[in-house]
Amino acid sequence: MATEDEYWQAIQERVCAKCLEGDGKGNCRLAPDGYCALKTNFHKVVEVVNSVYSHSIVPYEEALRKHVCDNCRFQSLSGACAMRTEVECALDRYFPLIVEVIEENQRRAHMAGSLWE
Ligand code: SF4
Ligand code: SF4
Repeated sequence: MATEDEYWQAIQERVCAKCLEGDGKGNCRLAPDGYCALKTNFHKVVEVVNSVYSHSIVPYEEALRKHVCDNCRFQSLSGACAMRTEVECALDRYFPLIVEVIEENQRRAHMAGSLWE
């Protein structure tokens, strides 16, 4: 299994490099008091992705809502989130790519492990 640092490095290369709040090279340009739900909840996001295996994004999104969004300060009791509606949450905006990156690294780490077994 890849370590969380390895997952985060891959996220910076593939997601932060694309992010509207990034500098195009993987560095975040958010102000120090800026909020990124992906960065803040990264441990939980990795757990969510690793707990699901599907060719559809739907079960990943359901798990994300249940384990991350339901505890997020931006989501109302009704389950609505203005950040999500306004496409301002990087975690939600790039979630399919985030799943892809984490699963690719998981597979790569698994294959590297098998070679040594
Ligand atoms: S806002 Fe989040 S996803 Fe975007 S560049 Fe910063 S850390 Fe990466
Ligand atoms: S979509 Fe909304 S509730 Fe979910 S993590 Fe992003 S800001 Fe929080």
